[in-house]
Amino acid sequence: MFPFLLSLLPLSVVARPERLISSRSAPPVTYGVSSDPTTAANQTFDYIIIGGGTAGMTMAARLSEDPNISVLVVEAGGDDRMDPFVSDVYKFTAAYGTPMDWGWATDQNRTIHGGRTLGGGSAINGATWTRGMKEQYDSWSKFLEPSESDLGWNWDGLFPYMKKAEGFTRPNENQRSIGANDVPEYHGFTGPVQSTFSKKMYAGPQQPYFAQTVTSLTGLKLLPDINGGDSHCVAFVPSSMDPRNGDSRSSAAVAYLSPVEKDRKNWLTLVNHQVTSILFTPSNAGLQTATGVYFAAEGGPYYTANARLEVILSAGAINSPALLQHSGIGDAAHLSSLGISTVIDLPAVGRNLQEQTVASIGANGTGFDVGGMGPTNVIAFPGLKEVFGDKAEKVGKEMLGNLTAWARDMAAKGVVISAEALEKEYKVQAELILNSNAPIIEFLYNTGFPGDLSIVMWPLLPFSRGRVFITSTDPFTRPQVDVNYYSIPFDLQVNVAGATLARKILQSPPLSNLYVAETVPGLNIVPADDPFDAWADWLKSTFGANSHPMATTALGSVVDGRLRVRGTTNLRVVDAGIIPLQFSGHLQSTIYGLAEKAADIIKRGL
Ligand SMILES: Cc1cc2nc3c(=O)[nH]c(=O)nc-3n(C[C@H](O)[C@H](O)[C@H](O)COP(=O)(O)OP(=O)(O)OC[C@H]3O[C@@H](n4cnc5c(N)ncnc54)[C@H](O)[C@@H]3O)c2cc1C
Repeated sequence: MFPFLLSLLPLSVVARPERLISSRSAPPVTYGVSSDPTTAANQTFDYIIIGGGTAGMTMAARLSEDPNISVLVVEAGGDDRMDPFVSDVYKFTAAYGTPMDWGWATDQNRTIHGGRTLGGGSAINGATWTRGMKEQYDSWSKFLEPSESDLGWNWDGLFPYMKKAEGFTRPNENQRSIGANDVPEYHGFTGPVQSTFSKKMYAGPQQPYFAQTVTSLTGLKLLPDINGGDSHCVAFVPSSMDPRNGDSRSSAAVAYLSPVEKDRKNWLTLVNHQVTSILFTPSNAGLQTATGVYFAAEGGPYYTANARLEVILSAGAINSPALLQHSGIGDAAHLSSLGISTVIDLPAVGRNLQEQTVASIGANGTGFDVGGMGPTNVIAFPGLKEVFGDKAEKVGKEMLGNLTAWARDMAAKGVVISAEALEKEYKVQAELILNSNAPIIEFLYNTGFPGDLSIVMWPLLPFSRGRVFITSTDPFTRPQVDVNYYSIPFDLQVNVAGATLARKILQSPPLSNLYVAETVPGLNIVPADDPFDAWADWLKSTFGANSHPMATTALGSVVDGRLRVRGTTNLRVVDAGIIPLQFSGHLQSTIYGLAEKAADIIKRGL
């Protein structure tokens, strides 16, 4: 079948690829990075990786270490490694609204940003380098079958892989004198992704003052390093920048692809082409085997590429579930409403979406010298106790008492597979908050925006759940993304208490020595006695999406402990979507770690 004929096929048709080759595939004719579809069309690769983002680049680099294995990565975006909007971390947010940003529209008129470029999210993110609480990673195993408990989806099983991804440069004396610190055991030093404190790190008083104010006001401890499994602290944090290369961004593409792309003749990355569906053939015991993919640039024509061993879906937490649905894997009732033939009825696909809300408060300063360019180094991660003070116990009890009702509410919205499954998940989350001091809100001290002194804050562990689902058979139409922000009242309660505390931090010594007057939201919007309703109204009208979506193809529901999509023999998902629960940290280091681990599972045939 010729490509132009493929483009005439209704997309709901799940067809076989042209050739199924069972012998070892030949190395690709072309390697490196290409935007020419004929380099991949009708070729057979051992592995096809969908999405050249954070996880996808990691997987491709590790799998192609074996010269006898051929790897194709298909990336929807372009190769923008040299674009300053990507390479210059100080231009963070400049890529928003450009073709390098997926910019998914969500409910309540918000936008979730995502990298549509080689490197994915790691190419446009804020570069902050932190990990969550040890106990939060340990909880992942609770979502798996007991027989899968030895697969190491826990802190001890993931931390070595997070370190494997990392090439940390320790702070120098000057950086230490202005707050930077580290515990060498918490870092990897030989991995591809560079992390460091920047040469332009702020030397002004604001960052140390923030740390001192938080510790004296809340009792939160100042830890020398946040990256060892305890994020319940205030700490100076590194960024994914390369000190050997002018502190430029160390994205997944720069870290994993650039060093080997001229030599690794068994790895082809096709850019500017989107995978539009995955092809299956039935195999033993009613399972489906992924045999290849359709891919195209918008407007066609459509091409196929064949997979000899596996297809790995790393298109991110929004597009991976959407692509599964386009390929016939999802809720059968939803698929049939669009005329898509169901290949596997898996209602959990796209459900259980967990995304955070973000808002910032700011104040005019005294005109002090900020002493550098950043990026932000200092972050506080308070838990229930610090956020709610002497009300924490009462709030915790109320939270526990509400779990059943909240789970029923979410199930009634159709955004989770069942109230029972969600209640089990909520109990894990509640236990982490109550018994492991899992931080519930992040305060990222932000020099210069939206005020001279600012705190960007986001509730870390929302109970609200959402859903990603396609509304058209056109794979180039973005899926509908319903986050249901603040639909569980506790999420708003945490945000209001957090905003109240953040305001107090800006106004307390020693930070108050630099403070003149609040500008955002301002006392005219939220009066000084912090009325709940005024904070709530302001938050609900001004919040943004935090662009940390996850859990839409979660471990234990859509994928098993080997990350295989249920009902398939050889289709895995490796990206943020498999993380079952939000955690108290930034995501990228964890995603690099889980991808490193996934590559090892595949290579070692575990
Ligand atoms: C604006 C922003 C700021 C952030 N800030 C930070 C931060 O400071 N620190 C931190 O740790 N984390 C941060 N994150 C989060 C982190 O960067 C992401 O969670 C992470 O990069 C996601 O990795 P992933 O592999 O799941 O997906 P991605 O890295 O998004 O990769 C998915 C890739 O698949 C491609 N793709 C999608 N659909 C298709 C298709 N059908 N065919 C082919 N290709 C496709 C995409 O273009 C993309 O390249 C931020 C994220 C964003 C968006």
